[in-house]
Amino acid sequence: MKTYSNQIEEATKLEANRITGRQACTVLDSVVAFHHCEVAGIELPTKHIMRILITGGAGFLGSHLSERLIDAGHEVICLDNFFTGRRSNILHLLNNPRFELMRHDVIDPFKLEVDQIYNLACPASPPHYQFNPIKTTKTSVMGAINCLGLAKRVKARVFQASTSEVYGDPEVHPQSEEYWGHVNPIGRRSCYDEGKRCAETLFFDYHRENGVDIRVIRIFNTYGPRMLPDDGRVVSNFIVQALKGEDLTVYGDGKQTRSFCFVDDLIEGFIRFMNQEETVGPMNLGNPGEFTMLELAEKVLAQVGGKSKIVHRDLPADDPKQRRPDISLAKRVLNWEPQVPLDAGLTKTIAYFRKSLEA
Ligand code: NAD
Ligand code: UDP
Repeated sequence: MKTYSNQIEEATKLEANRITGRQACTVLDSVVAFHHCEVAGIELPTKHIMRILITGGAGFLGSHLSERLIDAGHEVICLDNFFTGRRSNILHLLNNPRFELMRHDVIDPFKLEVDQIYNLACPASPPHYQFNPIKTTKTSVMGAINCLGLAKRVKARVFQASTSEVYGDPEVHPQSEEYWGHVNPIGRRSCYDEGKRCAETLFFDYHRENGVDIRVIRIFNTYGPRMLPDDGRVVSNFIVQALKGEDLTVYGDGKQTRSFCFVDDLIEGFIRFMNQEETVGPMNLGNPGEFTMLELAEKVLAQVGGKSKIVHRDLPADDPKQRRPDISLAKRVLNWEPQVPLDAGLTKTIAYFRKSLEA
């Protein structure tokens, strides 16, 4: 643990190096905070306390990330328009003095003094992002421009939550970061896929042209507590259907594959990636275990029990046939790999949905 005098020395050094006003101020704030913690005998897990903006912070991933960063001693500003986010996801943080909530749309510019930005704002489930496809593209593109503009102004590091959807219906398997993808530019999924691809383009152009400090991650299917029960993604659909005793709706023949990462593993990867200096990305994060949708349905039925059966429904257009991340880069740079196997993650997620359906 850093001592009070170490912190003073570090703050003075940073000021001498003309670090941005906000960063110097953060270090000075942290000197005081570290001093209080030292007096109280509390060990802080982080080196510097930062002010961190999370767009989409009231959503599934954003709320878990907010919680982790607050627990590490940081200040979090959660910006959300509550399209798919919920107050209940962040209710337990609302009274925390280090947590601030801003109802705002990323499409409209915002001015804040922050050290880091995680850009997560965008609906992620196919029914939600297809509900208003033009708005989805605007959210990805304008949201990226607004986050990058802010990062440029205040010299903050900015993180983009990109997606395995940039690989489209992949012809290369598993998908590594070098693969450019196989994406339909005019289909039902394009508002999301192309919006995210354009956001990646913007991130790398701001980096090359303006020296913005970026980090771009490509997230593969992630599941866990706080997913919306009706958001249409396969894990939440199957679990909620099984818990209600309804039939599980497998789209197509159910032989298409996905790789499912438990949320805690992903958030650990986010934080490690954001705070390393070796690469700006893009970097895949996900669980390389690969399952067909029929296997997933059977796993859910085995845990929930009951009288539900598997029924088949039409396969949506452009539904990727296979998906599995190559995570060699994350393993090497972050010393990261998922720790929670699918069965264990499903147990936790089923317990969450069981409780929320009973409430
Ligand atoms: P989510 O829908 O739960 O969260 C998205 C959040 O963004 C919500 O709180 C929503 O209200 C907010 N939002 C949407 N449009 C906004 C706008 N215009 N302005 C401000 N806020 C807005 O989804 P999630 O699963 O938490 O996904 C978070 C991010 O991670 C998304 O960018 C998504 O594309 C990406 N991602 C997620 C997964 C996954 O499996 N969960 C996979 C790949 C990528
Ligand atoms: N899927 C399914 N039944 C459902 C919902 C989805 O069989 O009730 C399938 C869907 O067609 C896709 C896979 O599950 O092949 C993953 O779908 P999800 O929407 O969770 O994620 P994405 O397609 O974006 O990877």
